[in-house]
Amino acid sequence: MQDSVRVCVPRFLQIGRGSVSKLPSIIEAIGSARRPLIVTDKVMVAIGHVARVTDLLDEAGISYGIFDETTPDPTDIAVQRGIAALREGGFDSLIGLGGGSPIDTAKAIAVMSQNSENILDYRPPSQFNNSGLPVIAIPTTAGTGSEVTHHMVIVVEATQEKISCRGEAFVPTAAIIDCELTLSKPPRITADTALDTLTHGIEAYVSEKRSLFSDRMALDCMRLVSKFIERAYHDGGDIEAREGLMLAATLGGLAFSNSSICLIHAMSRPLGALFHVPHGLSNAMLLPKITEFSLSSSIERYADCSRAMGLAAEDDSAELAGRKLVSGLFCYTEIMKVPSISEFGIRKEEFDSSLDQMAKDAISSGAPRNNPRLATQAEIVELYQQAW
Ligand code: NAD
Repeated sequence: MQDSVRVCVPRFLQIGRGSVSKLPSIIEAIGSARRPLIVTDKVMVAIGHVARVTDLLDEAGISYGIFDETTPDPTDIAVQRGIAALREGGFDSLIGLGGGSPIDTAKAIAVMSQNSENILDYRPPSQFNNSGLPVIAIPTTAGTGSEVTHHMVIVVEATQEKISCRGEAFVPTAAIIDCELTLSKPPRITADTALDTLTHGIEAYVSEKRSLFSDRMALDCMRLVSKFIERAYHDGGDIEAREGLMLAATLGGLAFSNSSICLIHAMSRPLGALFHVPHGLSNAMLLPKITEFSLSSSIERYADCSRAMGLAAEDDSAELAGRKLVSGLFCYTEIMKVPSISEFGIRKEEFDSSLDQMAKDAISSGAPRNNPRLATQAEIVELYQQAW
């Protein structure tokens, strides 16, 4: 447990149904964001979320540009294109509209356009705190919590390495957290992003870097996900469930950003970088197995998770509550049809030949050091094989 933590959060959090309508007043409150570049993806354009935002800006007489070339797991090359668009249009701020991918791209453009443009200069363990341009994050997935975190995850295109850059520079200036924007998510994305949120809550709570502050966020995050995940998965129009999951994602972001992620995320990233498994899904594929692996090293903490999620009774022993957590997690992945790595369609020979590299990349991210049970490279390879 850390003695003292420095919590860095956005200046404004506009939270609740219909919050996106407050965008013009948030821009006004920031003051220095007069001409924003909207960073988003083609799906956001197609489903009308971009039009929702541009209608508001038009009405308020705010001029803007649109960069819609973000893709899932954004690369440094996409960021370079965004920086060129920013300069070309003379924009002074960014609106990240979408899931973690557009929001992280917006963060990267904001910081890298004002500092080094080489992504490798932001590589951990260094922390980067020099601020960039103002960023307004408008999440639409209820998953990553990127709207409140001091992280930004970018894939280095040349090496396919996925790096998680850290520092106060990456905390957005404002976040607009409107669950109505998540109503359009299909069941697969709903499940994957909610299981990503759940992983944030659990890893933040068991991490060696946890604090009293992150504990409170993590427990509420887990409570909300377990209460609403199945409802939202089965009925995408259930606004109460969407609202609960949206808040859970933000709390999960505050939790892990002020504690840490651990072995699950470390092993999940190489699956995204090398095999393009969506981020939430790769976490979901690993969540039950790695929790089982780590359980005995922090049984009381995992038991708390199990109780918070309503999987164990308050008077269950820690051992029983821990076992119920693992079986509950397997149950979620079954109900929500999370495929195994093999079912996802990765070729076995390709997977086998990447195992050592994936294990090395997982270790070099630093996150496994925060896991309650330290895993050797050989154990990580074995865990990947079990998840296959
Ligand atoms: P994403 O942004 O990659 O989007 C996944 C897909 O969902 C895209 O096709 C997108 O268009 C679609 N989508 C998004 N919102 C939708 C909606 N409302 N309706 C229909 N479709 C919608 O997904 P993500 O899981 O939010 O983000 C993943 C990225 O975030 C990864 O690169 C991951 O590493 C990163 N990440 C960042 C942080 C952080 O703190 N910065 C934390 C965790 C993960």
